[in-house]
Amino acid sequence: MINALDKKKRNLDLPNTNVEERINARTVSRGLAIGKIVCLHGRKRQFYRVEITDLQIERELERFRHAARLAVNQLKKIGAQKNDKIKRTKADIFSAHLLILEDELLRSKIENVIEEKKVNAEWAVKIVTEEYIAKYKTISDAHLRERYIDLEDVAERILTALGGEKSSIALEKNSIIVAKEVRPSTLIELIESQPQAIITENGGWTSHTFILAREMNLPALTGAKRILRQVENGDQAIVDGFNGQIILHPHKNTLADYKKAAEEFYQFQGGAMDAASGKLTTLDGSEIIIRANLDLPKGYAAARKLGAKGVGLYRSEFLFNQYKGFPGEPEQVEAYRRIAELVGTDGVRIRTFDLSVEQLADETEEREKNPALGLRAIRLGFSHPKEFRLQLRALLRAATIGNIHVVLPMVSDVLEIRQTKTILKREKDSLRRKKIECGAVRLGAMIEVPSAIFTIDEIVAEVDFLCLGTNDLVQYLLAVDRDNELVADWFRTLHPSVLRAVKTVLQAAEKKGVPVIVCGEMAGSPAYVPVLLGLGANEISMNANSIARVRKVISEIALEEARELVKILEDCRTADEVEYAAAKFYREKWSHLFPKDVFPPKRKYKI
Ligand code: PEP
Ligand code: MG
Repeated sequence: MINALDKKKRNLDLPNTNVEERINARTVSRGLAIGKIVCLHGRKRQFYRVEITDLQIERELERFRHAARLAVNQLKKIGAQKNDKIKRTKADIFSAHLLILEDELLRSKIENVIEEKKVNAEWAVKIVTEEYIAKYKTISDAHLRERYIDLEDVAERILTALGGEKSSIALEKNSIIVAKEVRPSTLIELIESQPQAIITENGGWTSHTFILAREMNLPALTGAKRILRQVENGDQAIVDGFNGQIILHPHKNTLADYKKAAEEFYQFQGGAMDAASGKLTTLDGSEIIIRANLDLPKGYAAARKLGAKGVGLYRSEFLFNQYKGFPGEPEQVEAYRRIAELVGTDGVRIRTFDLSVEQLADETEEREKNPALGLRAIRLGFSHPKEFRLQLRALLRAATIGNIHVVLPMVSDVLEIRQTKTILKREKDSLRRKKIECGAVRLGAMIEVPSAIFTIDEIVAEVDFLCLGTNDLVQYLLAVDRDNELVADWFRTLHPSVLRAVKTVLQAAEKKGVPVIVCGEMAGSPAYVPVLLGLGANEISMNANSIARVRKVISEIALEEARELVKILEDCRTADEVEYAAAKFYREKWSHLFPKDVFPPKRKYKI
């Protein structure tokens, strides 16, 4: 971790020519970065423009040819499927796509761009297909004009195929990524190049991309409207993830100020890394257990150093991103064993794949209208029984040292837990019959949808533990898309309904002695943690970068005070009232911990 911080300090000396400009945006991951803008393009597969050298041209041409061959094979395979699923019209679409893909003129134009403009294959595909699309759009015949959609699909298919293998071209070391949205899979792909920061137009605080950014210590801002129209590749910028500002073309004095601030910030972070160990208690002696949320296992070492006891939530679907599809059984066994060994007796709560059908689907498949309410998480598991069984089998095989706990995402009915138990038993019996070594797992459920709150007693009776996912809980309770910047003002973590739901779960579990780990982003936020403690939480899980700040708050407040705070909040009738009352309480009791107002007023709408 310290290494990563050191690396972030590099490349601060950059020339400056333009006029300084400041753009406001919302901080979703704190920190400071100074670097050069790299704009991301593309939908499912995101990419950026890279200039290549003469020596790289041949390799880039080969990447393109390979991707085109792959795309052709995929289309032929789909076209050859003789079942009713592929209806006539769909088959016609695939043949049209095949014709486009096999068009020599299109291919040679793309190859020419790679050679002459010396750019990466992705960029060449983009500019050539965009040129074609622009021409199609001017055709007067409506039927022909619509063909541009086929071209868009074909371009996306080639771009996806280009993503199937690792590009040899990495981001420049001081890159600040700018995009409409950044997909989590894109960020995973870019991690090795160590980008400095992310700026997006869209995406909420709890979206997976930003959860990952916080885990990676990567400053991130969102809600930067039309940012892609305001910047160009190579523009110098500062990302101020403390004050929610992007400073484009910074003046040399601004740059000097920020360089100093960045040094101080990283020194402070480095200090905080060494600070934590031992039991964490509130001022009045109640022990609070902190665990780590992990998407990438390599983050655990830093989390443990900061005082994390095991992993409260391991999002296994990140393996899916890494393997660009369902990983095989040996790969999963290996991945789960590796993490189980790292955490030792503190244990790891591994969540089965929390994927949406869109992540599995082909670009040309019809999209779900409401993916958050669609075929995802445990539902996707049941609808892909082979893959679900395989994952459970891999978990059982990895559980030989007995510290693996399995969590089911998005449980909405206790029957889903019972059915999973049956599958687990069958898989275990079958492994034993085959004399394959396996262990026992404890089974838990994510509590994150309203139906689980209302049936919490039934769920508690079936599980060994619970993970309370506040990100989705807020999303589903308030019917507010956690990924949609437009409704960010409606994402109210302290809404009275959320407080009541959290309390209901904690009380029901306590009655039966079932542990609850609160593991949404609420648990990693120093401002919300006192509320969780007051509601009865004693196990919270968060990304490594939040641990130091959360530990500080917990060790400097009394549980009694937190309970007093919650008593006040429970009398409030709206989210505004709760936030106002909480801010007042913090000002009066804990101003040393919260020098700034913690819950700034939300945007007001004229009524
Ligand atoms: C949650 O929903 O709060 C949670 C922890 O899971 P995720 O953010 O992965 O949906
Ligand atoms: Mg969730």
